[in-house]
Amino acid sequence: MAKMTTRKTKTCPYCSVPLALNAEECFSCKRKVGKVDKHGIAGKPVNYKAYIICLIIWVALYLYIRYVPWKF
Ligand SMILES: [Zn+2]
Repeated sequence: MAKMTTRKTKTCPYCSVPLALNAEECFSCKRKVGKVDKHGIAGKPVNYKAYIICLIIWVALYLYIRYVPWKF
């Protein structure tokens, strides 16, 4: 018979302290934590801000290469 365990805590992936299942931020290291995985470890949430900044840089680079009149 499968063992059913109801988790009440998840573990911070950065500093390994137990957190509440619905916690979005670690009280110990103040880092954002995501949903709990099957091992009871909180996930590391996707850093959308970093993705957006990266995307903007790539678009700017593309526009720069595309529209700057290269004179050699
Ligand atoms: Zn932590």
